Amino acid sequence: MDEDGELDPMNEEQSNPSGRITRRYPNKLIINVTNACPMYCRHCQRRRLIGNFDKNTSKEDIETSIEFIRTHQTIREVLITGGDALLLSNNRLEDIFNKLSNIPHVEVIRIGTRTLATLPFRIDDELALLLRKYKVQVSTQFNHACEITPEAVRAIDTLVDHGILVRNQMVLLHNVNDDKYCIQKTNEELHKYRVITYYLFHPKDVKSTKHFQVDISKGLEIMKHLEGRTSGMCKPTYVYNAPGGLGKVPLVPMENIECVENGYKLITWENKTITKDFEK
Ligand SMILES: *Cc1c(COP(=O)(O)O)cnc(C)c1O
Ligand code: SF4
Repeated sequence: MDEDGELDPMNEEQSNPSGRITRRYPNKLIINVTNACPMYCRHCQRRRLIGNFDKNTSKEDIETSIEFIRTHQTIREVLITGGDALLLSNNRLEDIFNKLSNIPHVEVIRIGTRTLATLPFRIDDELALLLRKYKVQVSTQFNHACEITPEAVRAIDTLVDHGILVRNQMVLLHNVNDDKYCIQKTNEELHKYRVITYYLFHPKDVKSTKHFQVDISKGLEIMKHLEGRTSGMCKPTYVYNAPGGLGKVPLVPMENIECVENGYKLITWENKTITKDFEK
């Protein structure tokens, strides 16, 4: 009921040069292929796109988006997302992958999907072979170890066994996972199942989700906790998404490094202070 917050916290609507593209960076962009997801997350940053009806992006809008990429040689990476990109049929996905991979300057195709957690049955050998054929990389979202169900593990195994890179982008959420042991455990479980820990997103100021907000100090404390206490592979990059579509800002515990006279003061994971001289 509390309507505080923004409908489009990242100003994506203003970063659309053509078709269903969101472009904020010089050499990578997003194509939104659907507004549908198997399950709707309370904290979704794209909730403005979710209506009463599921709607895939029209073939014309996808073609216009691909044409923009074709004519912009700086674009080396294309993210296919939604909604959930895996709600498209394999045939429609293949058509997009095929067109993109025929563009010489497109080096990487990535899809955004949360089906590993929300609809793991979508992932089967046929899909994995399709992703492998076009060397598509996967970004997913597990926010809590409890989401890594036996079905999710089977879906992860299917992808990873076919050589597909799977990275996790988790969202920090108050009273869901804003706890250092919870974040450590979730990332260690993902590590165990061969999912690469990628981002920990600070919650965005999405309309009606104020109850999920946390202070940045909490995220920094969690990041500090992870140092030395877990594998480096279980440490995400903690990111704040600048409002107005200004992009991702990585956040690092501030006591870690400080400029002092003639050099730097560094704090180790056990809170030991060391100094390092400037290189002459
Ligand atoms: C997050 C994002 C990307 C991808 O960024 P990476 O840091 O490479 O994961 C690309 N385009 C837009 C608009 C984004 O918001
Ligand atoms: S899966 Fe992603 S796009 Fe879909 S509702 Fe959740 S956060 Fe939004």
